[in-house]
Amino acid sequence: MNIHEHQAKAVLSEFGVAVPRGYAAYTVDEAAEAATKLGGPVFVVKSQIHAGGRGKGKFEGLGPDAKGGVRVVKSVEDVKTNAAEMLGRVLVTHQTGPKGKQVNRLYIEEGAAIAKEFYLSLLVDRETSRVSVVASTEGGMDIEDVAHSTPEKIHTFSIDPVTGVWPEHGRRLAKSLGLTGGLAKEASTLLGQLYTAFMAKDMAMLEINPLIVTADDHLRVLDAKVSFDSNALFRHPEIVALRDESEEDPKEIEASKYDLSYIALDGEIGCMVNGAGLAMATMDIIKLYGAEPANFLDVGGGATREKVTAAFKIIMADPNVKGILVNIFGGIARCDILAQGVVEAVKETGLAVPLVVRLEGTNAQQGKDIINNSGLNVIAANDLSDGAEKIVKAVRGAA
Ligand code: ADP
Ligand code: MG
Repeated sequence: MNIHEHQAKAVLSEFGVAVPRGYAAYTVDEAAEAATKLGGPVFVVKSQIHAGGRGKGKFEGLGPDAKGGVRVVKSVEDVKTNAAEMLGRVLVTHQTGPKGKQVNRLYIEEGAAIAKEFYLSLLVDRETSRVSVVASTEGGMDIEDVAHSTPEKIHTFSIDPVTGVWPEHGRRLAKSLGLTGGLAKEASTLLGQLYTAFMAKDMAMLEINPLIVTADDHLRVLDAKVSFDSNALFRHPEIVALRDESEEDPKEIEASKYDLSYIALDGEIGCMVNGAGLAMATMDIIKLYGAEPANFLDVGGGATREKVTAAFKIIMADPNVKGILVNIFGGIARCDILAQGVVEAVKETGLAVPLVVRLEGTNAQQGKDIINNSGLNVIAANDLSDGAEKIVKAVRGAA
């Protein structure tokens, strides 16, 4: 689960991390009020969307020369004008995709005098079962670009959760960023605070870009992006309360209500599969036959009829879907239950696109009988490859 920058900063400041003062604003009046409270002389009006690259982003309808999603201004009046221009408008950044994201809230923050910009992130390294720290003197840039063109400027080391942060880690961070004296000490303290926050809140990733050295020689977190491990959210109702559903795909929200592992994608073939591995393989083989999957969906082993019906409806609600491939290898899942769910969903919503069904494993024959006797126009497939080929053909034939 992701949260907004202003929320991430609030979480971090609970752990003592130094961040600039600021207030969230949903309206122009609130933005003006925030600016008045901050007092200036420099304000930053920051679009709050779940995507990075806001500073260099472009607003729809404002032309290529307009300012981006992070604007530095010098008066309350300018805060108002810029807030009015940004609120409700769609911001496109390299992380939002071409559709962009509508800006529904702003963060009005005090302006910092920047001497240097660094990059710092913490993330779970599954291979070593540790927390990796990534630091670079090239802050404010895309870290992927830095990694590509100047990999020597990226420093990484890891922290063993058994022993936690040691002074040596702090020194390593300071050295990576070329910091000495008071700033080196601040880097060490900051690392301890970030690591504590990371563990306490079950974060999956914490990215600070930029971490700055201020003109008066202090470290400040100027941007913060945090994502949490969804499997641990039950331990953090205070984090769940920060969820902004307007940032999420409505289909994924609906799927989460039924505890379905569903991820919306851009393709045309809807997939209903049991098992994450089989779902990945199904997506691969759809691509192999020249089409693109519209989603990832694992209905899981203990799928009930209700769950399958919901899943099928979510797939059909996607206007990009031109065909559906049901690929079930019944182990714990039972093919007859899956088949009933499919038939029920289709009866409720109708079937406007070709449907290919491949059923194998537990109660496969009962499942096939249910589908065959349902009167639905279903194309039967013998195996995974056959199913993918048939659905791609059916969709291409209809086009
Ligand atoms: P994004 O990464 O989405 O573009 P940032 O919060 O990193 O958004 O802002 C982009 C740039 O704007 C930063 O690299 C920094 O140069 C500048 N900036 C952001 N916040 C402030 C601030 N409070 N004071 C001064 N400059 C800022
Ligand atoms: Mg940033």
